[in-house]
Amino acid sequence: MPSIPALHESAVLLQPGLVALRRALHEEPEVGLDLPLTQARVLAALEGLPLEVAVGEKLSSVTAVLRGGRPGPVVLLRGDMDALPVQEATGLPYASRFPGVMHACGHDLHVAGLVGAARLLAERREQLAGDVVFMFQPGEEGLAGARVMLEEGLLEAAGRTPVAAYALHVTAATYPRGTVAGRPGPIMAAADTLTVTLRGRGGHGSSPHTALDPVPAVCEAVLALQTMVTRRFDAFDPVVLTVGTLHAGTANNIIPGDAFFEATVRSFSPEARDRVRTESLRVVRGVAAAHGLEADAVFTDVYPPNVNNVAEAGFAAEVARELLGPERVLTMPQPEAGAEDFSFVAERIPSAYFFLGACPPGLDPASAPDNHSAQAAFDDSVLADGATLLAELALRRLEQGADA
Ligand SMILES: [Zn+2]
Repeated sequence: MPSIPALHESAVLLQPGLVALRRALHEEPEVGLDLPLTQARVLAALEGLPLEVAVGEKLSSVTAVLRGGRPGPVVLLRGDMDALPVQEATGLPYASRFPGVMHACGHDLHVAGLVGAARLLAERREQLAGDVVFMFQPGEEGLAGARVMLEEGLLEAAGRTPVAAYALHVTAATYPRGTVAGRPGPIMAAADTLTVTLRGRGGHGSSPHTALDPVPAVCEAVLALQTMVTRRFDAFDPVVLTVGTLHAGTANNIIPGDAFFEATVRSFSPEARDRVRTESLRVVRGVAAAHGLEADAVFTDVYPPNVNNVAEAGFAAEVARELLGPERVLTMPQPEAGAEDFSFVAERIPSAYFFLGACPPGLDPASAPDNHSAQAAFDDSVLADGATLLAELALRRLEQGADA
């Protein structure tokens, strides 16, 4: 395909501007659903391009539609925009100027890469056999910004539902710089929350028979959940259940009236997720009942598993191999247990989500500080490749038409 070198040559010309944008974003990171400075930079970077631009109502998203010169379907490209509540410790010249806030997950590169893809595709608008939706998304870090954008009509932005969606995520560690890693099927976990309060009856620590002690029962419930993980789930469709907080009581001689714990629950398929939702609540309620306690147990769905469509993941890997060379495209042997709210898009649209190694030169990806670390550093020399890959995926997928 002749479009690959041509696209990449244009991307190399854009690279200095994309690096400047990325570093400006890096200096002024924002957390959450409301990212006014970031949104203003995105709007400024898209200014003058032939796009239909809309902003979100409940969040500072930007949705931009590029209408191709030829008829065809719609493809969606996504970049998330938000930072994390971390005090940056990289010592980089363009480190965060905002105390306690840092682009520690590389979403500043995602914004710049998506701007790059928009520029590359806008330059080739007449060639495009359909339309492209650019999804600039706040609130990836735990706030389900993607779901809010869907509720606000993301998939109707171009007037027709997209036939495919693609997203890249940079990594500060794990993969060598410039390497793309993905897999068909589940690529990241569902991340849900189990919140439990066991209610008994408080009393004097010397006379437990006069009280209803929730402490032994809560210990039993935590262990029963671990047994549930190994006995009730397929080893090849696993779940992870980690109790991260556990609280009861105020003094060593007082039996508390209640005990509380909270767990993160990871699963990799809709089936395992449904099962762990039912089973975990039954285990907790059953242990409580066995001891005569009341259980307030709530399983909260947070992010679904991020599942790559098999055909789209195969197509994206093929394009990446052609673009970058086969040695720079890896098939992950298993999913990651982290979570990602692109999963809400992937639930609705056949999607492919990939990692892009951005480990800085001189660091070993096996030991470099990883995403979310205060020392995480991302090499923005990968921006041209990332923008080219996204643009090429859109160009080629549109060429295949709606029924590919
Ligand atoms: Zn991230």
